[in-house]
Amino acid sequence: MQSRNILGVRVDDVTLDEVVALIEEWAHEKDSLSRLVVTANPEYIMAARSNASFRELVNSAALVTPDGVGLLYAGKLLRQPFRSRVTGVALVHALAKCSAESDLSLFLLGAAEGVAEAAAESLRKQYPGVKIAGCFAGNAASDGDFETLTKVRRAQPHIVLVAYGMVKQDYWAARNLSKSGAALSIGVGGVFDYISGRTRLAPLWVRRAGLEWLYRLGREPKRWRRILEAVPFFGAVVLLEAARQRLR
Ligand code: UDP
Repeated sequence: MQSRNILGVRVDDVTLDEVVALIEEWAHEKDSLSRLVVTANPEYIMAARSNASFRELVNSAALVTPDGVGLLYAGKLLRQPFRSRVTGVALVHALAKCSAESDLSLFLLGAAEGVAEAAAESLRKQYPGVKIAGCFAGNAASDGDFETLTKVRRAQPHIVLVAYGMVKQDYWAARNLSKSGAALSIGVGGVFDYISGRTRLAPLWVRRAGLEWLYRLGREPKRWRRILEAVPFFGAVVLLEAARQRLR
């Protein structure tokens, strides 16, 4: 697997099929390693650049997928192109399909009360036979760890899908995954909100144009601050770095 270095942060050049194959393999390995999968976007890169412990967490993850479209533009500008984008939504659908056809089991952790259950219901309808080992909203902070770990350990899933939003979900996994009995965890952000229908996915043409971040901004204005703090800086640093490379 080839990795890209996007402003000092590792992001892997993987396709959806490759990610699913790797995850299936890891889920069934008996080496008892717990593997953390990060679905990254430009905000992740900026968070990792400004926080050494978070950077270490991302750079040492088993897999860092290029989720945000901004990473694909950055890869091109930095002459380290990605072959494709691997979004959290697409990954969860692909894993649910895979679970319906095998013994792979998923635990849905996070999101608001009842959302993980609604997402599970929707996955069961779309992929009859999908193995949902459990659902729990839980609490992203460390004082919720004991209760969540008890539930996850009892459910014995192969994979924990953690929907606590960027940074929080990854720290949750770093603190708990090795004690959970699961082989791996994947940070999936707002994916349960989409799958349960609580949040509408952007229309296909908007997604194809790589503009769903703009669509989400319109629907969730609280994102403005977060995105405005990270994305323009990300763009500026990428452009500067690309110019530096060309002058060298
Ligand atoms: N969330 C949660 N607990 C928290 C913070 C967030 O369950 O303490 C959930 C929230 O309900 C949503 C998801 O985490 O379902 C975060 O979604 P968002 O789209 O913000 O993810 P990001 O863009 O950060 O990956």
